[in-house]
Amino acid sequence: MRTFRVVVLVLVSGLWMAAADGAQTASPDWKTVEEETMRHYQALLRLDTRNPPGNETVAAQYLKEIFDREGIPAQIVAGDPARANVIARLKGSGRKKPLLIMGHTDVVTVDPAKWTHPPFSATREGGYVYGRGTVDDKDNLTAALMTMLLLKRSNVALDRDVIFVAEAGEEGSTNVGIDFLVKEHFAEVEAEYCLAEGGGVTRKGGAVAFATVQTLEKIPRRIELVAGGVAGHGSVPLKTNPVVHLAGAVARVGEWRPPIRLNETTAAYFKRLADISPPDVAKHYRDVLSSDPAVQRAADDWLFENEPRHSSMLRTSASPNIMTGGYRFNVIPSQATATLDVRLLPDENQDAFLQQVKAVVNDPSVEVRYPVAATRPPGMEARLDSEAFKAIEAAVTRVYDTVTIPAMGTGATDMAQLRGKGVQCFGIGPATDTEDGPKGFGAHSDQERLLESELHRFVRFNWEVVTGLAKKQ
Ligand SMILES: [Zn+2]
Repeated sequence: MRTFRVVVLVLVSGLWMAAADGAQTASPDWKTVEEETMRHYQALLRLDTRNPPGNETVAAQYLKEIFDREGIPAQIVAGDPARANVIARLKGSGRKKPLLIMGHTDVVTVDPAKWTHPPFSATREGGYVYGRGTVDDKDNLTAALMTMLLLKRSNVALDRDVIFVAEAGEEGSTNVGIDFLVKEHFAEVEAEYCLAEGGGVTRKGGAVAFATVQTLEKIPRRIELVAGGVAGHGSVPLKTNPVVHLAGAVARVGEWRPPIRLNETTAAYFKRLADISPPDVAKHYRDVLSSDPAVQRAADDWLFENEPRHSSMLRTSASPNIMTGGYRFNVIPSQATATLDVRLLPDENQDAFLQQVKAVVNDPSVEVRYPVAATRPPGMEARLDSEAFKAIEAAVTRVYDTVTIPAMGTGATDMAQLRGKGVQCFGIGPATDTEDGPKGFGAHSDQERLLESELHRFVRFNWEVVTGLAKKQ
């Protein structure tokens, strides 16, 4: 019966073309797949899931209906009924542990006045699709959805289960999304490997330059500096004025660059980036790997000035971003506070780091503390010698014909919670033009867009990676 149904599907829908040797799994007819991809992508983009408030349940229902229609077992799970998540699963033989593919359904807010095309219109123009979520994260969401549909229809025999997750609340409310899933439904999402957002293919001048795969991310934490003193009349300056003490502390922290520490990912990152960069820039990437501290320091100086993201990848960073103190010009306040955005290397000892900040502040009238608990747990680095990384690298070569560079994210993603539970996670993404970011079309920008051709190429890439990792061997 099953075989018969597949044959009918092939004949009726024309979605599948037999592979040349006839014995292999049918491979998708990509032209037909593209029409369906665009339909789902636009439909998802047109659902207003801006967070806050999120309202991701509309997207969860859309996805659930598709899975139901296709006969893919799927469930909606929600801590907050308005903010549902979807889990779907294709069964494999169980010879290997599951593979999880996921995308988040919420998007960041918009200022409609800044958009040429309405932000939830999914307008197609000049080879692009415009809309909030086009590159964060309804691209990954659509690619994961299409991969599930193609796997199901092709009836590919699998060595491992393939799990699909669409999670709510990635943009700042993980309690309804990944935290809820890991806490309440971990058995249903537990996997050996996970693919999610966080990587991408870089195009320069319209040509593919390289692909980055996120194998690790820094851990965000907040540190507060609280200067205390005695309040008084502004006409009588005091040695204990907390504003003055806080300003000194902030300046010292701001000038401090915590020690450089490389890991497997960042060492491979700078090495591979050097291999494909012009000699003058490549020199800095190689020098960063030098065992000579003076050479390394000079390279870091260059990066800090010219490529600050790369400088952040070398260390735990601390950026003072908020200062508050005082309320009247003629009153010396009794307290002044600064907040540091700290991005810890994943293996950093967080208590020891706090002590280091205290030493840099070096002022007993300034308290240094973590005001709130960490929101993202530390997790392990995905291995570069794993089957998954090799499958990703092979797919990058086949689909993009370029080099794969493992990267550590300086920001945070929902992969952190899974890494914290021992899942090896890899961040991937479609190709975008480096020139597009500065023009204001990137993730979280005033506008957002993705090339249609790159959406379709990304679906093929997903298919290649997932079949490479899960197909029966
Ligand atoms: Zn995102």
